[in-house]
Amino acid sequence: MSGIIGHTVYAILGAKAAAQRKSPVVSLIQRHWASYLAGSYLGCDIQTMPEAICVDTGREVGYGTAPLDKSPLTGGHVRPFYFRFESRDYRPRELHETFYGRAHLTFGWTRQQQHLTLPWQHLSEFCRAVVEDAVTLFGPGERPLAYVLGWMTHLVGDGLIKSIWPGVTLNLLDGKYTPRNRPIQDLFTYHEIGRKELQLNWPALLADVAETPVEPIQLHYMRSTSPRGQLACDFPDGWIPTEEKLLQAVLAENRRYLRSYRAEVLQELQLERTDDDWQCREELRRATGGLSYPEMIEAAEKSQFRRALWQIAEAVADLFGEIVRLVPDLRRIPGHNGPTWQELTERWHVA
Ligand SMILES: [Zn+2]
Repeated sequence: MSGIIGHTVYAILGAKAAAQRKSPVVSLIQRHWASYLAGSYLGCDIQTMPEAICVDTGREVGYGTAPLDKSPLTGGHVRPFYFRFESRDYRPRELHETFYGRAHLTFGWTRQQQHLTLPWQHLSEFCRAVVEDAVTLFGPGERPLAYVLGWMTHLVGDGLIKSIWPGVTLNLLDGKYTPRNRPIQDLFTYHEIGRKELQLNWPALLADVAETPVEPIQLHYMRSTSPRGQLACDFPDGWIPTEEKLLQAVLAENRRYLRSYRAEVLQELQLERTDDDWQCREELRRATGGLSYPEMIEAAEKSQFRRALWQIAEAVADLFGEIVRLVPDLRRIPGHNGPTWQELTERWHVA
């Protein structure tokens, strides 16, 4: 299912919480909104690629590493998808094993990479170095920095919802983040919070995210390029410049696939009007153990799911605050977007 919905909303709420604290990074985030949101998903989840090919239609289906035994399009057979690069074929799982931990830092490493796991208390040091490099090596443009801030929201969101770090209290049906409650989290976040409360235009939002460019700074913070800058100085281990070209191709593949996958996500989360209420798709009902959509809303409300989102957003704002404290350059970002038109009209004495 769709991690993109959760991560996008964590990033949006994190920016709101940071705005409440008058953080200087907020104006920059607003200037590069789509890249900020892209960072919050593609900045981390590099397995965004097909998992399989539908044999009947020849179309790409599924989501990298999530097992698929029949086609979601026809119910027919599927064959595995391979990502081809420089005359080699890679299964999404193999790419996941090479790169997933490098993006997520505090978890997701393979057994052989265990020594590279970053203790979560050290996360702000790592982020500080990346943010400094975003300014000095990848500046003066602001877009790489917006992307990095988005990536940081993913680290916080994943860390908290997957219980890698303490800080989120949630018991929805059968735990914090489980196969049974995931469809509820997605549907509730998409409709009740995103669409109704935050008034998001999801199709437009996801389309803009899919069209953002690959940011070279991602190769840098994933240490999959030549070591340089503050990050190489503070974290000299674990660099794999030999995989630079492969990762570059994977990041481009993520964007290519998101263009079609986003339609799949939107369709999967659609509600249909029934005689007496709204209902979600049968597969999602089944995954929750047979709950109806109104029962899912009730379960989310009862578990205080909104409170968990609030906790994640506050944790994002905490990390932004810590980084602003550690990187004085960020305090020089203009805290607002200049004079308003009304102010200019008054200042220029236009009758
Ligand atoms: Zn993730």
